[in-house]
Amino acid sequence: MITPDILRLVPLFAELDDADLQEIAAAAADIRLVADEWLVREGETPAFFALLAGELEVTKTVAGAERVIDHYHVGDSFGEVPLLLGSTTVANLRAVGDVRVLRLDATEFHYLLARSERMAAAVMRTMARRVGNLRRLSIETPAETTLIVGHRADLACYDLRDFFSRNHLAFRWLDPDDPAAAPLIPAGVGDGPYPAVVFPDGSLLALPSPRQVADRLGLQTAPRRPAYDVAIVGGGPAGLAAAVYGASEGLSTLMIERDAPGGQAGASSRIENYLGFPTGLSGDELSARALQQATRFGTEIVVAREVTALRLGADAHDHEIVLDGDETVGARSIILATGVSWRSLAVPGADELVGQGIYYGAARTEAPSVRGKDVYLVGGGNSAGQAAMFFASYARCVTLLIRASSIEQGMSHYLIDQLATKRNVVVRTGATVVAAHGRGHLDAITVRDEVTRATERYETDALFVFIGADAETGWLPPEIARDERGYVLTGPDAQASGTWRLERDPYLLETTVPGVFAAGDLRHGSIKRVASGVGEGSMAIAFIHQYLALSATEAPPVTAVAG
Ligand SMILES: Cc1cc2nc3c(=O)[nH]c(=O)nc-3n(C[C@H](O)[C@H](O)[C@H](O)COP(=O)(O)OP(=O)(O)OC[C@H]3O[C@@H](n4cnc5c(N)ncnc54)[C@H](O)[C@@H]3O)c2cc1C
Repeated sequence: MITPDILRLVPLFAELDDADLQEIAAAAADIRLVADEWLVREGETPAFFALLAGELEVTKTVAGAERVIDHYHVGDSFGEVPLLLGSTTVANLRAVGDVRVLRLDATEFHYLLARSERMAAAVMRTMARRVGNLRRLSIETPAETTLIVGHRADLACYDLRDFFSRNHLAFRWLDPDDPAAAPLIPAGVGDGPYPAVVFPDGSLLALPSPRQVADRLGLQTAPRRPAYDVAIVGGGPAGLAAAVYGASEGLSTLMIERDAPGGQAGASSRIENYLGFPTGLSGDELSARALQQATRFGTEIVVAREVTALRLGADAHDHEIVLDGDETVGARSIILATGVSWRSLAVPGADELVGQGIYYGAARTEAPSVRGKDVYLVGGGNSAGQAAMFFASYARCVTLLIRASSIEQGMSHYLIDQLATKRNVVVRTGATVVAAHGRGHLDAITVRDEVTRATERYETDALFVFIGADAETGWLPPEIARDERGYVLTGPDAQASGTWRLERDPYLLETTVPGVFAAGDLRHGSIKRVASGVGEGSMAIAFIHQYLALSATEAPPVTAVAG
């Protein structure tokens, strides 16, 4: 129990009288931590703390990497910066050994300040010093970011920048063709080959793969154990939700993502219909938060690795996941959450210009390069509408080309209303892109008017494509039944397929192979929303608990599943 005597250890409380100290002691939470336990993490609800015993390490994610920025010792008080700025917690606090901390919530903290002017002044001085430290940290940081050197028109350079951006890794990009950038290119990079990456320690990788970059920057690229209770393939909203629920409910959980966590939602500039975020949030922010949550519960997150096959065990709890490079990892259960991939624009000239003026999805890394230019977007769904809103803040003019005769056919009303407020957004219905032109980079597109059938050429160097997506499930074994478009059958659909072999019914999200579940957009009949993906990812974990509990007693398959 916290007593006034214990509170006298904290210099900030020195001038308070016994009655005040009694009140604080009665209102405070008495928190005990063991070594490596977190007191708070960045982004959490703030509170005011005073350290009564032990030591805390203060860390902050700067430029994508966690850095130790301070240590707190007995008598230190902290937490005033976010409370006074009205923000979320700005740093992580981790116990170095056994720790005892007093915690006051926001109301008690403000009441405390009102009690003593001298104490309030002391808190303000501490806050000013800490804000100064944070400022210094952010000024020092740019010198430490990774540098990418590569040509704007080079697809490999575009992919690399996209990989950094989607993994929230800070970087600077210098284009050797840009006369202003040339003098800034480090001598060691010379004349190429490009793209080249120069790391903060000065080391260089030429033509690196995303996996090499991820390894160098300390991201996990290989499973640490030989087998897991649950392996999740894909790190979109469905996979991330499964990762959070799996690990938080005590299952050893692995999530494998071929690119960067976030999936399609990561490409969304503003998700406005996700419960709990009344002013909307970007897909980037949602995925960064979910990733932090999953990691905190202990999920292993492997990035820059693609799952290329599943090997189904003769015993249904003995499956294997095959990663690119033929590495395998065992799994007692599997969740497929690989979502869908953008459908490509099948018009002459388009394939050669992907990443060189033609982009699938919102390609947020391109935002600065479209500043002041005229850009075109193809598609009539919400994703195209959101992207138009996003690019309207950068481009001079954004033209949305929609093949259908009306925008209402594919887009939500709230987005149509928002687009109407943007003076630099033009919506053209009944318009189809029929050709792309350019050598090495997009120069122009040809658009056909669906009413008059007349074609017209428009000069532009950026076309963003949102024309739907397909499930890419060709790599799955034939035992996992799919519909004619590749979407995975689950639950009643799996049973109706005629390939389900057990006496019991499949769980709602179970595929035709016992123990292999599917969640999110790749599932036949899915709703294709962030919230439904998140819901299904969490539900899949609940079914896996039941499945694993049943597994000890379950009768063997009537027909053994082929290996
Ligand atoms: C631009 C845009 C805006 C959107 N806006 C909204 C919105 O405002 N509200 C809303 O509710 N929904 C929105 N959506 C839809 C929503 O994002 C999707 O429904 C949701 O992301 C589906 O989640 P998922 O986890 O099933 O799949 P995905 O998000 O598609 O994620 C699948 C992940 O699996 C990975 N993967 C695929 N194959 C493999 C493999 N073999 N090995 C390893 N990893 C693999 C992919 O790289 C990807 O990261 C939007 C979609 C887009 C594209």
